[in-house]
Amino acid sequence: MKYRSTRENKEEISAAEAIKKGLCDDGGLYMPTVFPEISEQMWEKLIGADYPERAATILSLYLPEYGYDRLLSDARAAYSDKFDGEIAPVKKLDEHLYVLELWHGPTSAFKDMALQIMPRLLSGALSITGEQKKALILVATSGDTGKAALEGFRDVPQTAISVFYPDHGVSDTQKRQMQTQEGSNVNVTAIDGNFDDAQTGVKKLFADTKYRSELEEKGIFLSSANSINWGRLVPQVVYYVSAYCDMVANGRIGFGDKLDICVPTGNFGNILAAYIAKKMGLPIGKLICASNDNNVLTDFLTTGTYDRNRPFHATVSPSMDILISSNLERLICLTAGHERCSEYMRELTANGRYTVDGSVLEAINSDFVGKWCDEADCLAEIASVFERYAYLSDTHTAVAFKAAEMYAEERTEKDRPILVVSTASPYKFAPAVCRALGLESTGEDSELFMRLSDYTETTIPAPLWSVISKNIRFHSLVKADEMKSAVNSFIDSLV
Ligand SMILES: *Cc1c(COP(=O)(O)O)cnc(C)c1O
Repeated sequence: MKYRSTRENKEEISAAEAIKKGLCDDGGLYMPTVFPEISEQMWEKLIGADYPERAATILSLYLPEYGYDRLLSDARAAYSDKFDGEIAPVKKLDEHLYVLELWHGPTSAFKDMALQIMPRLLSGALSITGEQKKALILVATSGDTGKAALEGFRDVPQTAISVFYPDHGVSDTQKRQMQTQEGSNVNVTAIDGNFDDAQTGVKKLFADTKYRSELEEKGIFLSSANSINWGRLVPQVVYYVSAYCDMVANGRIGFGDKLDICVPTGNFGNILAAYIAKKMGLPIGKLICASNDNNVLTDFLTTGTYDRNRPFHATVSPSMDILISSNLERLICLTAGHERCSEYMRELTANGRYTVDGSVLEAINSDFVGKWCDEADCLAEIASVFERYAYLSDTHTAVAFKAAEMYAEERTEKDRPILVVSTASPYKFAPAVCRALGLESTGEDSELFMRLSDYTETTIPAPLWSVISKNIRFHSLVKADEMKSAVNSFIDSLV
């Protein structure tokens, strides 16, 4: 199994090297040169297996040099009792509507599904490639990714992680989640500025070659944990396969029956993983790409023109507030080829827009359809889904429910089950969810959690509740131009 760029560079490297490098030198993203099919024999084994075994089986197809045993022990450590008992359960709402819940991990959002195992895959990549240096992960976060990355990297051998967040750019819950982070190799710093200041500061450190060679002398190299790394994408294929296996095992569908799958989408990573699962033989009908007011993907899937020149909307589903969906490049490469992919991406950089050929759009539309809804529809959908099914959804999942309903009305396969992907616990976005249900939406987190729990008779996730009483470990607040010294004191504290 080899990996190469989505762009024109034809050089091929191993999975471990691709995970270590993250991004290709030509600016493209690493892609496997083949997508292995899941054999009938493998399906039988998968259906009877638990989640870590399913993960190790799928991952070993893409990461052969790791070996099944290492991957199984990584998966057992990742999908462990840090999850609340269930890893990625499928819930039935009615004969034709199911929900795949991806928020049972330690930060109550779907980023955990990848970030609990990716650090172990990186650590494995270092040992497989004989790398002696320690990987220092630098992250600028506007909220969810920072916490999920901290939880994932905490105490993983040969790695350390330093997260920067804008002091006034994250919610109180998110800030507390990060300030109370445990682990011996973690650091959290607030920036006196906004998310862009934090992001720019991190990029500057990556671009500072003199600083990087100073770090090399100390046995450290800089790395990132962002969602374009193959090591974050491939673990996401697993839960689609796992959901299908569970539905077959529970008699909800027959083996071979098709599902339509609806995914609340931002950077296009989650839905792309479903597409990869389809390429491997998972019986998927349509993939419904659900967006909020930032509906750049809906427009692309409808017209073939991707155009980021538009106003940015801050919505109640902030993890989908994205105008450049980086992982779309992988789909473009798979449907248009490397050469045209490179051209489109050059146009995107130069003009903020590109238009794919009609034949490319047609190929994409045979697998994907795009739907979006606005803020009012999103909040109304939370109330409506709760009323109809007694099911409580967060703001991101609600966008997907609405999109699934819109698609269900126009499709011809009326009896095909739709699987809606749920990406966050409703408690993670408690003020908006309370508002949607007509409850008082102001107050401390603890009050909001209890109000929501009383009204809906649902359980407050333990990790969100425990943050309220945990001690604050990280207080430091620095100016954006002091980030380097913050990293340096962290490094000194490590040895
Ligand atoms: C990150 C995130 C998304 C978007 O996922 P992509 O892989 O970026 O498309 C949706 N919902 C929640 C809650 C998220 O955290």
